[in-house]
Amino acid sequence: MRTCLRCKNNMIENFKVSSNGLRITNKNLVSSTVAELKCAVCTECGYSEMYVDDISKIKIINNKEKES
Ligand SMILES: [Zn+2]
Repeated sequence: MRTCLRCKNNMIENFKVSSNGLRITNKNLVSSTVAELKCAVCTECGYSEMYVDDISKIKIINNKEKES
């Protein structure tokens, strides 16, 4: 469970971010989506934040960059 950074209330997670402009791509493979952005919203103050549920592909990319 995520906690709101502003008011410390619990946040509702797993909202889908629906915009064609928002996706995380590998900087070398622009057309390849490597992670889906999701959104959590605080039910008290409305603060929302985006996060990545599955970071496995991002970890692989990070490890490859460390090696090179
Ligand atoms: Zn809040």
